[in-house]
Amino acid sequence: MSGTLLNEQHTGTGFQYNENQLMIADMIKKFGKDHIQPQLMEWDEAQTFPVEVFKKLGELGLMGVLVPTEYGGSGFSYTEYVTVISEIGRICGSIGLSVAAHNSLCTGHILHFGNEEQKRKYLPKLATAEWIGAWGLTETGTGSDAGGMATTAVKDGDYWVINGSKNFITHAISGSVAVVIVRTGAKGDSHGMSAFVIEKGTAGFKSGKKENKLGMRASETAELIFDNCRVHKSQLLGNEGEGFIQAMKVLDGGRISIASLSLGIAKGAFDAALKYSKERTQFGKSISQFQGISFKLADMATEIEAAELLTLKAADLKNRGEKVTKAGAFAKYFASEVCVKVSNEAVQIFGGYGYTKDFPVEKFYRDSKLCTIGEGTSEIQKLVISRELLK
Ligand SMILES: Cc1cc2nc3c(=O)[nH]c(=O)nc-3n(C[C@H](O)[C@H](O)[C@H](O)COP(=O)(O)OP(=O)(O)OC[C@H]3O[C@@H](n4cnc5c(N)ncnc54)[C@H](O)[C@@H]3O)c2cc1C
Repeated sequence: MSGTLLNEQHTGTGFQYNENQLMIADMIKKFGKDHIQPQLMEWDEAQTFPVEVFKKLGELGLMGVLVPTEYGGSGFSYTEYVTVISEIGRICGSIGLSVAAHNSLCTGHILHFGNEEQKRKYLPKLATAEWIGAWGLTETGTGSDAGGMATTAVKDGDYWVINGSKNFITHAISGSVAVVIVRTGAKGDSHGMSAFVIEKGTAGFKSGKKENKLGMRASETAELIFDNCRVHKSQLLGNEGEGFIQAMKVLDGGRISIASLSLGIAKGAFDAALKYSKERTQFGKSISQFQGISFKLADMATEIEAAELLTLKAADLKNRGEKVTKAGAFAKYFASEVCVKVSNEAVQIFGGYGYTKDFPVEKFYRDSKLCTIGEGTSEIQKLVISRELLK
């Protein structure tokens, strides 16, 4: 089998998808046609989080992409992971965001920092989507400045008592388990935070307000509330005081996730705009024959190609166990900005029809904006990159 990176002749390069990537891309295309495409606008309108879709994706091994097979996962590398998230995002950003959050945040945190017992307990359930996972770092008062968090855990014998709340948490309502990072030490101390894995049903742990969002409306975003929630010390991930450092490492991988999602949304918007530009006629010819439109397509394709290369480079470094702080930030920053730009241009190419819900580009446009915000805004990516440059 062979194929170009983008798996599309119009934007192909000399790089090739590997066998697994081709198989995954094909599988997702078929799955999307049958199980996502027919209902995605309905879910978007109603803000429905379609749990059954994630269960089915679990059966395909796409909810534990990076989890080793011994823990019930697919055991793929980051290269295949990029394909999974981008191909799902190409169909629906919301489903892509949820698959990304589940795989790289909650599951990824337990995979990298859980002890053997925790991994055996949680990973098989997460990898098969028997359980959906959530990950809570952000609070109402602290987003970019996550280290300033106010939610606390105080030791009480063999238990920790957690009080506070987490905001904007993907799967806060439907998740069966959450990894949360809370304060266990002094404010301002990067070693003053710890990570816990907490199951739904634990007394004092509940979900709160669900956000009504611009885009990514089928990906559930809500609050997690802790009211004297007692968590046994066996639920601590790694050692006390390591939570924030762990979270930053998880986000290093998470940036590859959001870069992949950005890439997928950009490709989806581009695919639709390219097709429409050949079909729509004005002044007696297809609009693609106007240089004003064909040059837009050229810019969009070039930027998608560059975003893909940066994303795959970060994935490759990650596969080799190298530090990806800068490469991941490059990919996330660039790909997410490209995603917004390409989706915007796609709406423009559709003209008035692009502004309606009868065509797919308005949704790509709305979904795209999350990519420059979630898991570190573009400004924070520039902060990360400049810090690395100036070290
Ligand atoms: C749909 C969705 C899903 C999410 N899922 C999760 C999740 O599962 N788990 C989770 O923990 N969080 C989640 N988040 C939260 C997300 O990570 C934060 O929204 C993001 O990190 C930004 O934080 P903030 O919203 O508080 O913005 P703020 O930090 O208040 O930023 C506001 C503006 O100020 C800028 N800014 C802030 N600091 C600086 C600086 N030092 N220099 C320059 N500019 C700066 C920002 O770039 C931004 O433009 C989600 C958010 C959304 C919208």
